[in-house]
Amino acid sequence: MMNDTRFSGYADPSLHAHGLWIGGRWLGGAGIPVTDPATGQTIAEVPDAGFAEATMAVDAAAAAAEGWRSTPPRQRSEILRRWFELMREHAEELALLISLENGKALADARGEVAYAAEFFRWYSEEASRVAGEFRTTPSGTHRILVDHEPIGIALLITPWNFPAAMATRKIGPALAAGCTVILKPASETPLTAYAMARLGAEAGVPDGVVNVLTTARPGPFTAAILADPRVRKLSFTGSTGVGRTLLAEAAKTVVSCSMELGGNAPFLVFDDADLEATLDAAMIAKMRNAGEACTAANRFYVQSGIHDAFVEGLTARMRAMKVGPGYEAATECGPMITVQAVDKIDRLVSEAVTQGAKATTGGTRPGNDGYYYPPTVLRDVPLGMSIGREEIFGPVAAVYRFETEAEAIALANNTEYGLAAYVFSRDLVRAMRVGKGIDTGMIGINRGLMSDPAAPFGGTKQSGLGREGGVTGILEFMEPKYYAVEF
Ligand code: NAP
Repeated sequence: MMNDTRFSGYADPSLHAHGLWIGGRWLGGAGIPVTDPATGQTIAEVPDAGFAEATMAVDAAAAAAEGWRSTPPRQRSEILRRWFELMREHAEELALLISLENGKALADARGEVAYAAEFFRWYSEEASRVAGEFRTTPSGTHRILVDHEPIGIALLITPWNFPAAMATRKIGPALAAGCTVILKPASETPLTAYAMARLGAEAGVPDGVVNVLTTARPGPFTAAILADPRVRKLSFTGSTGVGRTLLAEAAKTVVSCSMELGGNAPFLVFDDADLEATLDAAMIAKMRNAGEACTAANRFYVQSGIHDAFVEGLTARMRAMKVGPGYEAATECGPMITVQAVDKIDRLVSEAVTQGAKATTGGTRPGNDGYYYPPTVLRDVPLGMSIGREEIFGPVAAVYRFETEAEAIALANNTEYGLAAYVFSRDLVRAMRVGKGIDTGMIGINRGLMSDPAAPFGGTKQSGLGREGGVTGILEFMEPKYYAVEF
């Protein structure tokens, strides 16, 4: 149990329980420290699951599988709906927990809890709406009937940057589809996942339907689970590098994979854009979660006529941001997740500045406690730098100048990633044309935020495989079965 005084005002201390959650029971243990990124202090320790616990989790998910897949969709739906309501009832407490272990500002954490809960509401609605197919073959010989069945036990692996939402975006559709799951949250942010498991049990999720395990050895742990023939699905959100490794691992037993991987979003501003509205959207696209988002605007390409005004406006907004511990009310930009994350941002910025980029605000690593990096704007960034190729994952906006539409599209596409892009222009026909030319799974048109449970979230190229959310998200956890019917 976490004995942090910041939680003393809350009614339900059991929300801070943390052991392995297997088959509806807590299994104690230790081995993985959880750190407050604002101070570098350890705030809790969670268990380190090994092979024995991995097998126990698969056994628990298998024991619950038949009961759950044969539970009427309406009943599964009502359990998800109750889980949604419990998340809303405990929203403040969950937000504080997220802020403590992840570092993000409370406003961002509250936004995440609301967004995360919506996946349970959306999939409570979708659970009873899975449509099949019925048609006559072109030859007229027989009828085609297509049913969708739950795919089987699913292993869900999530990152630290959205500890609640990345979990609900997988658990919601999996449970709606009739699958039982094993969730492995990121080692940096396990407390939110365990709190969610507790609320799930209260909502009526049967024992073994959702199991949550932390491990300090994710590679061997995952390999052991994927080697079990009862496990038929891997849904992963995280970096492209780990995604590649997991695809290779899943190939050994031909496990179905959904992959939500890294991004390197371009943010295109044309001369005719509404400057103030574009700057507001740029702040959301860049600074939500202090830049630690897969959809975060990484590369700002700004047309010559509006370039200087854009840099000036963005600089003023970034400079005004209040940096501090996420859980302090005034904070707008919290610390980064780890000291390694700060090292990486510092390396990217230093290399760009050495090669001629100019920091109009920020650009220097502070010497205080905690894992901070200041909101930073870089202008005149040379092309070909690491800062344009790698995910920055921090509060740094790199701005480049362009002249023509064709040049902007070519620059936007010059990356192995294809997750998200943003286009700003008052000419909607042009914005849509540019959007069509950019190879990403998602495009924000005059909008800095695209995430929505009702929309298909995902990427092209090396940003992933499959989609989460929307009406198709549930099918990632289902297998079509075709009946050839003679009549
Ligand atoms: P990460 O290092 O890839 O880790 C993600 C998860 O994978 C964690 O739970 C991690 O466990 C686990 N993991 C690491 N190595 C593994 C292995 N060999 N086998 C099995 N699991 C392994 O990513 P991250 O740093 O947590 O998250 C940031 C990345 O996620 C960024 O690239 C970001 O763009 C991406 N992301 C993508 C989306 C999307 O929807 N496309 C959304 C959010 C984030 P440990 O924590 O124990 O290492």
